[in-house]
Amino acid sequence: MAILKVARLGHPVLRRVAEPVPAGEIMRPETQRFIDDMVETMREYDGVGLAAPQVHVSRQIAVLEVESHPRYPDMPKIPLMVIVNPVLTPVGEEAHPDWEGCLSIPEFRGITPRATTVRLEAYGRRGERIELVAKDFFARVLQHETDHLNGKVYVDRMRDLTTLSHLPEWVRYWTRRDEADG
Ligand SMILES: [Zn+2]
Repeated sequence: MAILKVARLGHPVLRRVAEPVPAGEIMRPETQRFIDDMVETMREYDGVGLAAPQVHVSRQIAVLEVESHPRYPDMPKIPLMVIVNPVLTPVGEEAHPDWEGCLSIPEFRGITPRATTVRLEAYGRRGERIELVAKDFFARVLQHETDHLNGKVYVDRMRDLTTLSHLPEWVRYWTRRDEADG
């Protein structure tokens, strides 16, 4: 396995709509190897999700995982999940603002509104169909990663930029934590 280089904001790959992956290609060894590399890269950088364009590959693949996060022990857990060609549909009108960050926009946080509940349709890592309804933090991560596959980043979704903060200032002025967590 390999840790892949993460594309940062300004790289055109982050602004492209990624190519769908034909279902028959998911089980190919090169695709499986790439998924393993994405998982390893996400874990290396303590991400809760990673989309293929973030590692310079314009294909509709994303990985998500929240284990016991060293910096966010209270974060709800999400078991490792691979989604291919995901389609998200908001369920209901409810939206919720909360902080987001992104490995491609390092050292920033911003308040971003997201649909509270979404319906996900996708392929999984073995080409199986996934259909589920996700809520709250899980729904937020799904929306963040699926946005990447459509050339969007969280700052595009911010209603205004007044909360956009560098990490040390975010810790100092926007959180009540005793010590820096970035
Ligand atoms: Zn991101």
